[in-house]
Amino acid sequence: MSRQFSSLLAIAAVAVTLTPAPALAQSTAKEVDCTQVKCVALTFDDGPGKYAGTLLDTLKKYDAKATFFLEGQYVKSRPSYVKRMVKEGHEIGNHSYKHPDFTKMTATAIRSEIQKTNDEIKKAAGVEPKLLRPPYGLSGVLTSEVAAEYDMPIILWTGGSRDWESKNEEAIKKQTLTVAKGNSIVLMHDWVKQTVDAMPSIIKTLQKNGYHLVKVTDIIKHENLKPGDTFPLPEGWDK
Ligand SMILES: [Zn+2]
Repeated sequence: MSRQFSSLLAIAAVAVTLTPAPALAQSTAKEVDCTQVKCVALTFDDGPGKYAGTLLDTLKKYDAKATFFLEGQYVKSRPSYVKRMVKEGHEIGNHSYKHPDFTKMTATAIRSEIQKTNDEIKKAAGVEPKLLRPPYGLSGVLTSEVAAEYDMPIILWTGGSRDWESKNEEAIKKQTLTVAKGNSIVLMHDWVKQTVDAMPSIIKTLQKNGYHLVKVTDIIKHENLKPGDTFPLPEGWDK
């Protein structure tokens, strides 16, 4: 068999194997337009946490997407969860390497926290985060400037589940459903076991009420955010 003919055969074989893929890709990559339908972005900070695997199973079961703001140190110790998050269509954001307060740091130190975390995420899952959430949601001019260097907007939240505080399944569910309104960005933590335990019930209720569980990017798509911009703006900040 000529070399040319065998490579043609190889291409044909690949094409045959790939044939069903476009249809599948279309159905899973269905775009959600949050200006037309009700959307909520659930975000999980400080992970990947111990219970990330269970959380990912739940999200998959209900075809829900989430955004994970990861800490570099845990990306390093639990890379397989990060790989799975990306593979299953979730969004990854940068939440520093070791969770320091950026407002007490130099630009060089902030840069190092962001860079080290980006490097671990790239190594674990082959992607580069496009969103930054500074630890405790605290930032200032310096953090904005460094975020801009990395082409990232700063993403805070519109409401919190207060899960780290209550550590109570019913309270987490109640608080989450209270703050989950149209186009909200909800803060949660996948290291809180009660949060992960409450997720099936939270997702079922939100979906029953007509919400699409989407990535942060779907919510901010129409905000025209520039790198270094903060969204949502904390109360009292001028645009
Ligand atoms: Zn945090």
